[in-house]
Amino acid sequence: MQTILPLPTQPVKPGTSTGQQFWSSTEKTIDSYSPADGQLIARVHPSTRADYDRVVETAQAAFTEWRQVPAPRRGEIVRQMGEQFRRYKRELGTLVSYEMGKSLQEGLGEVQEIIDICDFAVGQSRQLYGLSMHSERPAHRMLEQWHPLGIVGIISAFNFPVAVWSWNAMIAWVCGNVCVWKPSEKTPLTALACQQIITEVLRNNDVPEGVSCLITGGHTAGEWLAHDPRIALLSATGSTRMGRAVATAVASRLGKSLLELGGNNAIIVTEHADLDLAIPAIVFGAVGTAGQRCTTTRRIIVQDSIYDDVKKRLASAYAQLRIGNPLDESFHVGPLIDTDAVKGYQQAVDAIRQAGGQFVVEPGLLDEPAFASGCYVKPCIAEAENNWPIVQHETFAPILYLLRYTHLDDAIAQQNAVPQGLSSAIFTLNLREAERFLSAVGSDCGIANVNIGTSGAEIGGAFGGEKETGGGRESGSDAWKAYMRRQTNTINYGATMPLAQGITFEL
Ligand code: NAD
Repeated sequence: MQTILPLPTQPVKPGTSTGQQFWSSTEKTIDSYSPADGQLIARVHPSTRADYDRVVETAQAAFTEWRQVPAPRRGEIVRQMGEQFRRYKRELGTLVSYEMGKSLQEGLGEVQEIIDICDFAVGQSRQLYGLSMHSERPAHRMLEQWHPLGIVGIISAFNFPVAVWSWNAMIAWVCGNVCVWKPSEKTPLTALACQQIITEVLRNNDVPEGVSCLITGGHTAGEWLAHDPRIALLSATGSTRMGRAVATAVASRLGKSLLELGGNNAIIVTEHADLDLAIPAIVFGAVGTAGQRCTTTRRIIVQDSIYDDVKKRLASAYAQLRIGNPLDESFHVGPLIDTDAVKGYQQAVDAIRQAGGQFVVEPGLLDEPAFASGCYVKPCIAEAENNWPIVQHETFAPILYLLRYTHLDDAIAQQNAVPQGLSSAIFTLNLREAERFLSAVGSDCGIANVNIGTSGAEIGGAFGGEKETGGGRESGSDAWKAYMRRQTNTINYGATMPLAQGITFEL
């Protein structure tokens, strides 16, 4: 039997998830257009400042109850959410694809990430472990405990419109926090759909109003979260420009932020690489999601002796790429998010030409009737130099830079010589090369792979990057610790009061 996505009927409104909805009809609407066909999908009311304050007050009240719910019980509620996402995987994945423009396979994959993080969070809910330590004082015991923080604000980017929320929210919830989510203004409908999908679970489990909140709007709504001392942790995913503004605002109130910002990811291809592995990994990494992943492969650094071969193979692989409607599974590459992104692509192409770059695969706009949204561009490859300003910059489009090297240490130096530090990879069958790349003198990125590309990640590992990528870690491993506060406890079960460090204090 076909399930029907419980999308709300018009008008769609922000608010808390289990009934109350706060909105103002006087505000200009956020209009969501599909980059696939240029159609207006829906109009969404943005939250006003008054809406925002009521949402945060409701979240604060919810936290006083939610933090007392045992963590495994919170995990059980997240488990039920995972079941809901399994039920609506096809519908939500299709909406992600239609609203954001990524391929249907990738849209479904994004919902699968939600399901996976729900499963992960369920297990995590029974593993919020603290350490115990041996005290230097007799008859004393030391331990640490982890407590919830309060309200976790989540600002998300358009390119992973639902998965990034779930990485944060599912872990934040099992840790005992409540969440206020501000999705990208470019993809508000997918966010509203997620809220609708979990509403039944929240209601069935009598979860207090305000545990899961959604506000809509652009950067102004994000700034409310950044400046608000009631937001205990602000997890922000997006451009480095946004991260700098958020980090500064949160730091000025001595708050906590978790930043997941831009990448400029490279693959080193050595003379010992298996090119049958490397070429598909490079092509998928560079053109998947039309080059709009934070982990998109933007640079490849190829050893001199195989440079021409790699160039030829890539050009022939790109010639086979089919560009078209992301909902049609026969196409490899869909549109960019909007016409502003197309302008960014064109400006980058101009900058490459001005710097003297040669295109191995030519760029271009697609303007036939099938591409009427004006958002479809050709993935391209340019021979470039690593130090050119345009190569140092993350252009969120399918532009791949081809760089060359002679000695591995030079390749690693080029790979590291960008302001960003998210994802990196080496293709080699040589153990020494692989281990050097992973060592302390190797890649400086948060993610370093061997014989797989830069793009995408499994939820089991901690995800994030260094330098201008922001330093945050989300998802697996011990990333949960960012969503809790650590408390060190010392207990004296003896009959004397010895001081630490051998200090005596006689009365
Ligand atoms: P963006 O920075 O334009 O917007 C991201 C979010 O920040 C949106 O919700 C936006 O409304 C909000 N925002 C913008 N300015 C703000 C401000 N001054 N204060 C508070 N909030 C503000 O980014 P985008 O175009 O949506 O996404 C693309 C960028 O996101 C790329 O740079 C990409 O690499 C990055 N990204 C990083 C990761 C990661 O995990 N490292 C994941 C996905 C995307």
